[in-house]
Parts: sequence; C-alpha cells; structure tokens
Amino acid sequence: MYLKSIKAYGFKSFADKVEINFLDSINGIVGPNGSGKSNVVDAVRWVLGEQSIKSLRGENSIDIIFSGSKSRKPLNSASVTLVFDNTDMHLPINYTEVSVKRIMYRTGESEYYLNNENCRLKDITNLFADSGVDKESFNIISQGKIDEILSAKASDRRLIFESAAGVLKYKRRKIEALKKLDRTNSNIERVNDIIKELETNLEPLKRQSDDALKYLELKENLKEVEVSLIAHDLDKYNYEIKTIKDRVHELNDELASLSTNNSSYDIQILTKKDELKKVEDEISESQQLLIELTKNIEKIDANVRVLKEREKYVKNNNEINNNIINIKEKILKIDSDTNNLKLELDNSKNQLTSLDNKKKELEEKIKKFNDEKNKANNKIIQNNRDLTDLKYKIEYQEMNINNNNSLPSSVKNILNNPRFNNNHNVIAKLIEVDSKYLTCINIALGAASNYLVVDTARDAKEMINYLKDKKLGRATFYPIDVIKARSIDDVTLSRIHKIDGFIDVASNLVKYKDIYNNIILNQLGNIIVASNIDSANNIAKIINNRYKIVTLDGQIVNVGGSITGGSVATKNNIINEKYELENKRRKYQELNNNNNKLEKEINSLLKDISDEEKNLYDVNNLIINIRDVINKNNIELEDNKKLVDNLKRELKDLEAINNDGSASELDKLLNTYYTAINDKDNEEVKIASLKKKKQELFDTINELDTISRQSSSYINKKEKEINKLNLRLNTINIKMDNLLLRLSEEYNMTYESAINNYKLEIDESLARDRVNDIKNNIKRIDYVNIGAIDEYKRVSERYDFLNSQKDDLHNAEETLLEIINEMDTVMKDKFLKTFEEIRIEFKKVFKELFRGGEAELSLTDPDNLLETGIEIMAVPSGKNLKSLSLLSGGEKTFTAISLLFAILNVRPVPFCLLDEVEAALDDANVESFGNYLEKYRDKTQFILITHKKKTMEFADCLYGITMQESGVSKLVSVRLEDIKN
Ligand code: ATP
Repeated sequence: MYLKSIKAYGFKSFADKVEINFLDSINGIVGPNGSGKSNVVDAVRWVLGEQSIKSLRGENSIDIIFSGSKSRKPLNSASVTLVFDNTDMHLPINYTEVSVKRIMYRTGESEYYLNNENCRLKDITNLFADSGVDKESFNIISQGKIDEILSAKASDRRLIFESAAGVLKYKRRKIEALKKLDRTNSNIERVNDIIKELETNLEPLKRQSDDALKYLELKENLKEVEVSLIAHDLDKYNYEIKTIKDRVHELNDELASLSTNNSSYDIQILTKKDELKKVEDEISESQQLLIELTKNIEKIDANVRVLKEREKYVKNNNEINNNIINIKEKILKIDSDTNNLKLELDNSKNQLTSLDNKKKELEEKIKKFNDEKNKANNKIIQNNRDLTDLKYKIEYQEMNINNNNSLPSSVKNILNNPRFNNNHNVIAKLIEVDSKYLTCINIALGAASNYLVVDTARDAKEMINYLKDKKLGRATFYPIDVIKARSIDDVTLSRIHKIDGFIDVASNLVKYKDIYNNIILNQLGNIIVASNIDSANNIAKIINNRYKIVTLDGQIVNVGGSITGGSVATKNNIINEKYELENKRRKYQELNNNNNKLEKEINSLLKDISDEEKNLYDVNNLIINIRDVINKNNIELEDNKKLVDNLKRELKDLEAINNDGSASELDKLLNTYYTAINDKDNEEVKIASLKKKKQELFDTINELDTISRQSSSYINKKEKEINKLNLRLNTINIKMDNLLLRLSEEYNMTYESAINNYKLEIDESLARDRVNDIKNNIKRIDYVNIGAIDEYKRVSERYDFLNSQKDDLHNAEETLLEIINEMDTVMKDKFLKTFEEIRIEFKKVFKELFRGGEAELSLTDPDNLLETGIEIMAVPSGKNLKSLSLLSGGEKTFTAISLLFAILNVRPVPFCLLDEVEAALDDANVESFGNYLEKYRDKTQFILITHKKKTMEFADCLYGITMQESGVSKLVSVRLEDIKN
C-alpha cells in the first residue's frame, strides 16, 4: 500500500485544483518558504480525521478553507482526496485502490467519502486503524515536530511508542469504553436515585393498592350476598303483600257481613224494645183492669153476701139454690184452671219444638264428628300398611348397604374381611351428598366412588396381595398417607366464581370427615360444578379447558374440551342407595308423625262426640219430661172437660127441680160475680203471660245486646287487624322502596335483573351476618384509593423495569470493565514488547547513524505500563553528556531520526510523510539520513518536504510548490537532473 495521490481544492492555499501523484518510493516536495508545502501534510492529516485545528495551524475549523487573496475571492468549501494503492490489500477493503475524501463547508459541516461513498469519520478511522496510517502516528511528522520527540515530556513521548505498538486503537476503544462506563455509572446512579424514590412511594402505594383490591373484593362479595338477600327480601315482601292484601280483602268481606248483621241486631233490639213497651203498657192496662175487677168482685161479693142473708130469711130451705150456686162456682173455677192449663200446654209445646230442633242439630254434629273420626281411622290404617311396607324396604336396603351388595365383589371381599380393619370404606360411603347434587357428584366421582380408602400404602399393598392370592379380582386403593389434594388455582376460581351458572367446586358440595380431606380433594377438588351445559361451556372457554366441569344433570366438559353427555342411568350404587334409604327413612318418619297427628285428632273428636252425646242425652231427657207434662196437661184438660160436663148436667137437673125456673136477683148477681171472677182470672193469666213475654223480650233484648256487643268487639278486632295489616303494608312498601333504591343506587340494578341473576344459596340469617361482617370489614379500611391499583401496578412495573435495567447496567458495567481489563492487558503486552524491540533497534540505529556512541530507552514507571513515560538517553561517541538538553540542535534531530528509524525497523509503515525533519542536519548527517532511507525503499514510501538539496538527491521524483499568483499554491514540475547536477 502507498499514497498514490493527493487531490486538493480550496484547502488552505490550494485555491485551484491540484493533484500530486506520488511514486511508491522516495518523493520530494520542494519550494520556497510559504509556498504551501506544509499545507500538504496538513491536508493528509485533515483527511485522516484530524479534528484539532491547532495541530492544523489554524484558529477556527473553517480556517482550512481558502480564505482568498488579493486577486482571488475566498472559497466556500475545501476538499482533499487521498488515493491509496491497495493492491497488496493492506487495507481491509476489497478494492485495489482506495480513495478517502473530506469536504468542509463554511458552515462548519464536514463530509467524508470512502471510494466516493458518503461515510462516517469512524468508518475511515476503522479502515486505517491497523494500517500504520493514522493522523497521530509517528510516520507523519509535521514541520518542527521532530525535535519534540526529544524535548517532550517522557509521558507525552509514549504516544509514539503506543502508535508503533498499535495500541492506539485499543486506547481509543478504551476511552470509548471508559466513556461508556462513565455513562453506565451515571445511568446506574440515576436509576438508583429513581429506584430509591420509587421505593419510598411503592410501600404506601402497595398498601393502598392492597386495600383498594381488598375493598373491591369485599364490595364484590357484598354485592353477591347483599343483592341476593335484597332480591330474596323483595320476593318475600311481595309474597307478604299478596298475603296481607288477600287477608285484608277477606277481613273487609267479613266486616261488611258483620256490619250488616250488627245493624240487623240493632233493628231487632229496637223492634223488641217497642214490643216490650207495648207489653209493659198492656201489663199496666191489665193490672188496672184487674184492680177494677177485684174492686167490682169485692163489691159484688158484698152484695151477694147481703142478698144471701136476705134470702136466708126469704127462703129457709133453699139448699137447691145453694147447690146450684156451688156447682156454678165449681164450673167457673174449672174453666179458669182449664184456661191456665191450655196456656201451660202451649208453652210446653213450644219448648218441645225448640228441643226437637236442638236434638237434630246435635245428632248432625255427632254424625259429622263420627265421619271425621272414621276418615282419620281409615287413614291410620292406610298409613300403617305403608309403614309396614316401608319398614321392610328400609331393612332390606340397610342390609344391602351394610352387606355392600352393590359393590364389586373384590371390594366387598375386602370390606367384609375382618382382618382388614384399617380400611375406612369406599369413598361413596365416606361422604354425605345433598339430593340436588347427587347426580353431578355421582358423575364427578365415576368409578372412584368404589375406591377403597385405607390408612397407608402398605395397607393397600397387603390388601392387593390378598386379592391376588385369593384370585378375588381387582380393586383401587386410596392410601390417606399418600394421596395428595388437588385444587383449582385461586386465579381461575376468582375468574369464574361470579360467572352465571357456576355452582361451586365439587368437593365443597359434599360433607366428610377432616381426615378424608386429601382423598376428597384429590377426586373432587379440581372439578367444577355448573348449573347446565351452556354455563359449563362458557366456564370451560374462560379457563381454557384446564379443568373438568360437571353439570347438575351429569353432562361433562372434560379437560381439553371434549364433552361427555346424554341421559344418566340411575345406577345401583352406594350414593344412590344411601340417598334412597334416607328418603325412605324420612317418609317413614313422616308417616309416623302423620299417624300421631291423626290419633290426636281422633281423641279430640271422641271427646267432642262424647260431649255432644251428653248434651243430646240431656235434651232427650228434657223432651221426655216436657212430653210428660203435655200428656199430664192433656189428661187434666180431658178430666176438667168431663168434670164440667157432669157439673153442667147436674146444674141443669137442679135448675129443673127449682120451681121458679127463672134467675133470681141473686142468680143474676152470682152470674155477674163469677163472670167478674172469670174475668179477673183471665186478666191474671193474661198478666202472667204478659210478664213472661216481657221477661222473654228482656232476655231477647239482652241476648241481642250481647250478640251486638260481641259483634261490635269482633268488628273492632277485625278493624284493628285491618289497621295493623295496613300499617304492615306501609312498612313493607317503605322497606321495598328502600331496597329498590339501594339496588338502583348502590348496584345500578333493577329488581328483575337482581331476581334473575342473584339467588340466595345460603341461609338467610347467615347471609345477613355475612353482609354485616363484610360491611364491618369495609368500614375497617381507612382510606380507599381505587386509582392506587393502577398506580401501584404502573409504579411497580416501572420499579421492576428499572431494577432489571439496573441489573442490565451492572452487567454492562462488568462487561465494560472486563473489556477494559482485557484491553489493558493487550495494551501492556503490546506496549512492552514493542518498547523492548524499539529499544534494541534504537541502540543499533543510533550507533549506526552517529557512528558510535551510546543510546538507551527506559521506562519511567515500569510498574505502570499503561501510563509510564519513556526516557531517552543519548551520548554521541566520545562525549560524556548527562542530559539530552546538552546535545546540539543537529544531534537532537539526529537522535530523534534514529528513534524514527528504530521504530520503522520494528514496525514498518506503508508511507512516511516527513516535513523538513532533517532541516537542522549538516550535509554529512543528511547524507547518513539519506543513505538510511535507501534501506526502506522497498518497504516504505517516503514523502519528504525539504529545502535540502542533499535530501533532494535521494528522491526518485520531486514536486515543486510555488506561489506564483500571490496567495495561491501551484504545483510545478522539477527536474531531478537539475538537482542532482
Ligand atoms: P516554509 O518553507 O517556510 O516552511 P511552506 O512552503 O511549508 O513554507 P506553508 O506553511 O505550507 O508554506 O504555507 C503557508 C502559506 O499558506 C502561507 O502563505 C499562508 O498565507 C497560506 N495559507 C494558509 N492558510 C490559508 C488559507 N486558509 N487561505 C489562503 N492561504 C492560506
């Protein structure tokens, strides 16, 4: 590889386009002072990426653009292209020629091109990294810089050695790595600061989020229970309202009929009171009449006595008359008795009619009670027949269950063998199932219902051996010490527990002893029970078919999604049998209770019958008595009639005997007297009858009064009941309004949706307790911030992310430190190796160039190879110098050139660009310098900027740079012959 040409336009003094083509050997660039030769070196370093404007001898980056001259305007851009021959593929790029171009505009923008393709500076730096061509490398030495090698500080000097050792790229990479490390560290610090800040927020936020989650969960639980409870209450109240309304209706009807009756009682009372008044008037009239009659009788009696006395003197023997008078008196007396008897008889007949009616009533009642008693008796007989039947069936089924008849013979053999007392029984016998879950639990258990539960795996083994030895078939054993519980994970449960149709996990639907917990959970703990196949499918979809689902009617959605279904045969298995046995026992008990009730009914009926029969007996006795009285009255009446007839006949006879035949004054008076007596008796009978009637009316009025009062109190009672019911209706309505308001305000729900979607599946009082508990738990949460859930999620995600970023950064830090360590090791190795080689070469070259003398290189800090400076010691032949500063200017330059050649010996480079490095040398030393250059002719291209004619002589071609037009460098051809001659 070598530098084939430089093309410049607008760079510094190169206002015109120039192209300098170099040979692959020693090239010289000559020209007067200030013509622009050093600008060539600047141009090369500028293209290779020199960023320091100072080292390009300017103040400002755009100082490298032609700034104009007297005759030329400034240019807007500067461009330089270096063309390298790369036929030896020294540069790692698949081109035989490589052009590198840099353009800069007055705006300060730079562009780089590699083989005319726009590229980054980094691409160029990378391309030349290992090539020995570098803006900082020792082989490009600007004017006046050669002496700096000696005059520079030992520490600055190491740069040349680093360049020669090829560690600059490592150094650059290390600087990049350190920058990255620095950035990484500040990122770690920044991330740590944020993490710390987040940590202070995270804890309270987590608490708030937990509280909010708990609150939401409690609210959800509350909704589930409370809405079910409200729906239940509303339902209950609805039913109660209907019942109350029915009752109010009934009461109103009753009230209407009671009021009608009551007013009829009032009318009756008034009527009876009118009647009473009339009777009382009649009594007082009759009594008045009686007084008058009595007075009249007394008066007549006095007259009769006077007449009798007088007649005693008129007729001495008037016995006939006396007899006539006596007979007449007797007849009148008997007539009066007869009248009384007739009244008594009427009374008795009336009483008899009412007793006959009462008797009929009692007989009907007794018949009704007897019918009821017979019916109850018949029912008892029927029940007893059913009880006997049931008893037999229960005994049979108990025997079946106890003898394990429905179990496979292998299982039966184990269970019935007293040797195996450490088996607990089959699973089906160890659980209790509610009738509504019977089918689904049966299906969920499947064959497992006949699995035998034993204490240990050893027990199972022993029983299996027994079955095997005796060739009794196979059985499955569930050792308590081995079987593990299975369950549905909480996340799945929380996702489905509110799904419509989700009932519960199958294990929760059976009751069993604690010791079988693992066994039951193993079989039923991971099975979900759903109400029907639609909800089962819905749940299966949500849980991705990860668990088996059984419906209440026995359809199965298996794990994975297959469905087993159809009709379910009521199999003869233990669970069914236990359930049927329970049913029968319940029915047996019910029948027994029914019989007891019926017997009580019969006893009470028998008592009623006996009471009524006693009443009937009394009534019959009364009837007999009254009939006796009537008979007696009738007989007496008959007797009286006969007596009167006889007396009348006797009277007629006596009156015929009496000559007179006509009624005397006394007769007339007696007639009047007896008529008056008769009238008086009649009046007395009438008064007695009226008094009786009065008493009856009193009784009736009192009775009616009592009935009316009772009826009023009954009405009052009914009205009170209606009021109470109406009050209750109001209360219920208010309660219902409240419940509906709560439904809509708290749960945004209608009654219909609550009743359709929320069923109360636990006991009502339990539900109320649960609602209170949940509400208390909610109250216990001080402060609820729902936003904290998302905020905590967001912050904790950020916290996790930052922590992982922190880990990444720590990893990156470690990786960077490893890389830096590796690079340090490589740099140290390369540096030391190259230093040692250059040291040896330097000693040799120095001696050759100075034709004797001593030179040495040493490390100022060998223990710190990464930073150590390099000390140069040079003593030309025959001298005894202690310090480099004591060397002459030429000696210094020559020593530096010795070092340059030593380095070239160790590390050959494709080309060297040396700007007047030999300026301070005398001709003899220039000769030695030139001769030395010859050694490298085949290995390294030299471009020498020089004023020295001697140097020019070593060049294979020369380029002249002039500044003919003021301020603009021009390339002119120089003939070698002219120089050499
Ligand atoms: P010497 O032999 O004295 O070392 P030289 O040939 O190496 O001289 P340079 O140092 O390369 O000369 O050139 C310096 C010249 O370049 C000066 O005349 C300076 O005015 C000119 N120059 C530098 N920068 C610019 C620029 N931006 N625009 C125009 N001319 C410039």
